Amino acid sequence: MQQHIDSYDFAGKKAIVRVDFNVPLDENFNITDDTRIRAALPTLKKVLASGGALIIMSHLGRPKGVNPKFSLKHIIGHVSECLGVPVQFAEDCQAADEQAAALKPGEVLLLENLRFYAEEEGKPRGLAEDATDEEKKAAKAAVKASQKEFVKKLASYADCYINDAFGTAHRAHASTALIADYFPQDKMFGYLMEKEVKAIDNVLRNAEHPFTAIIGGSKVSSKLGVIKNLLSKVDNLIIGGGMGYTFIKAQGGKIGLSLHEDELIPDALEILAEAKEKGVNLSLSVATVAGQEFNNDTPRQVFDIFNIPDDWEGMDAAPESLENWKKIILSSKTILWNGPVGVFELPNFAKGTEAIATYVAEATEAGAYSLVGGGDSVAAVTKMGFADKVSYVSTGGGAMLEAIEGKTLPGVAAIEA
Ligand code: AMP
Repeated sequence: MQQHIDSYDFAGKKAIVRVDFNVPLDENFNITDDTRIRAALPTLKKVLASGGALIIMSHLGRPKGVNPKFSLKHIIGHVSECLGVPVQFAEDCQAADEQAAALKPGEVLLLENLRFYAEEEGKPRGLAEDATDEEKKAAKAAVKASQKEFVKKLASYADCYINDAFGTAHRAHASTALIADYFPQDKMFGYLMEKEVKAIDNVLRNAEHPFTAIIGGSKVSSKLGVIKNLLSKVDNLIIGGGMGYTFIKAQGGKIGLSLHEDELIPDALEILAEAKEKGVNLSLSVATVAGQEFNNDTPRQVFDIFNIPDDWEGMDAAPESLENWKKIILSSKTILWNGPVGVFELPNFAKGTEAIATYVAEATEAGAYSLVGGGDSVAAVTKMGFADKVSYVSTGGGAMLEAIEGKTLPGVAAIEA
């Protein structure tokens, strides 16, 4: 049964907490952005303040085995500083029995990078390039078999399990999902995870209408599942950014050098037809700010989206498109935004994305619920200073996208089961 972190009695108990401490490090192993550590602090502090002890586990990077470069020892000092207590370190996450057993209330043990073991992800490593299907199958079976012991060992350290790693919730890994089975009565979401799950519910299950999704970014192919799932939920679907040009070309438009995917044209046509059939207002760009080369200082000119000259490339949403989108966004009660509507990394082509951020903020102020999630749109709102003007900014790019695609997240399901 799922417990709640606020009502669970942590006194005298050891909590094993899966966090996402996969933070960027510079060449001297200094943390360059500690957002992910700070995001887990409310959960970690809650356990300590309630008389529990903490066993913290995480992955860092993508090591293919034990590799000091990816050691979590690099972050001990910072985690300790953030928590305000010393942090002990277990150099092998599979040999921490004694350290875990000796933990007293208020104490903290950080386990070494879980991904030093192939069992964390349950995927075989070191397979020869020319391995046969039989060999691949055998290697997979072997790692799956030893994964059981791996999970059991981690679980043996603690009395309860908390998952606060939304960024890896879309993976059915040992520490993100499988371990929950060992705590049938003592498993729960951390605060971050709870907020993320609630944000998804707010848009996908309990949306107030009109519900508008703004989907931008570079490729239709990477958001096909997202668009298809949203078509049965939203009233308005704004498609902008690089991916919009495939829809324009599919309808016979001249898009010049703009980004597009010819092989996705049938899908684009299918989406247009489905939107019509379902009564979804699918709003594409009507005009574009184009450039002649892909750089900030290239000459800019606005063109009708169906008539971009051969040697120009659509790089941002033009005011005519933004006017349409503004009306839609400001009349919405629920807004989901994923992906910039232009090349926002180049200041001269960031105006469209900035305008969208302004409209979403304005709608939020007027009472709409807004969720910004998945990849670059998060970077965009943060960079533009709008992160605290929307209802929620998701921390989990891939996990949020999979949730919006309608997929069940194993890390969430394992707790809710
Ligand atoms: P995604 O990761 O799919 O959300 O895509 C984000 C990327 O799309 C950003 O790096 C943007 O620069 C890029 N992008 C948005 N609009 C355009 C465009 N019109 N042409 C080329 N790239 C674009």
